[in-house]
Amino acid sequence: MHLTTRLKKSKAMIRLVRPMELTSNNLIYPIFVREDGKEYAIQSMKGQSYLSIDGAVDVCHKAVGLGIPAIMVFGVLKTKDCDASIALKENGFHSEIFRKLKKEFNDDLILISNVCLCDYTIDEFCVYSEKGKVLNEKTAAMLGKIAVAHAEAGADVVAPAAMCDGQVKHMRQALDAAGFDDVAIMSYIKTDSCLFKPFKEAMTLSDTPQSIDSSKFRTDIINDKMFMRKVDLDISEGADVVIVKPALTNLDLILRVKQQYPNVPIAAYQVSGEYTMIKLLSENARIEEDVLIMETLNSIKRAGADMIITYHALQAAQS
Ligand SMILES: [Zn+2]
Repeated sequence: MHLTTRLKKSKAMIRLVRPMELTSNNLIYPIFVREDGKEYAIQSMKGQSYLSIDGAVDVCHKAVGLGIPAIMVFGVLKTKDCDASIALKENGFHSEIFRKLKKEFNDDLILISNVCLCDYTIDEFCVYSEKGKVLNEKTAAMLGKIAVAHAEAGADVVAPAAMCDGQVKHMRQALDAAGFDDVAIMSYIKTDSCLFKPFKEAMTLSDTPQSIDSSKFRTDIINDKMFMRKVDLDISEGADVVIVKPALTNLDLILRVKQQYPNVPIAAYQVSGEYTMIKLLSENARIEEDVLIMETLNSIKRAGADMIITYHALQAAQS
């Protein structure tokens, strides 16, 4: 007789027949490092904190101790400017972070640099624009220069986050020309999601109105074809890894990328809104947080993600 209960007979049997399971090797922990050195809880992302550079070193030691191979760095500047030229300042804050972490950890921790104009510009927008039109080439060329500055300081991987066309191409050319052909590119493909809001609040210095609608460069949340066209473009330009962002609302897209590009590693970003949903649900519905975290992370992994960028990384690695 065919019985499906045989292989569920005990917890040990269930473990034995699992085809895959998330491990700490699959996790990337994003950290927020403040130039003013102040350390305090991030209001919009309960449970996460801003770090000083020394605080970042401590947290990275914890991550390494838990077997997490990589971190993603978000630098929170004291001041920004109109055109992001502050990003190319000699010995800028981001370079200071990478130099310190590289010296401390060398090859024991992969340092991933998020590269986007919004980290440096007063209007906190990801791309250059003119009269509402995205300036792809100008933005991509600048991302290439920022990538080189971060690579010089010790970044192992750069992650273009502006979603402009040509960002991977320009970055690859700039890195190769500067002798950083060993620095990998993880390219973000983002839908125009509302789930980025807690992160945006964490990174924002001002209430300056944004100059351009993000739907002009992120992909439509409903349109899978538009998403896959951007994946095609970034892979053709030389992306070593693609990041699907957000994760939980795009599980089908993670699977699509995996099916179409079985040999390209896929990262998924469990974004700030997903993080907050889990926090609130476990608080308000009395669901055990660790269980909820592992269920969502494993669903993302099962959809096809080889690695997951998540604010739950430290907690998940301990589960
Ligand atoms: Zn951005």
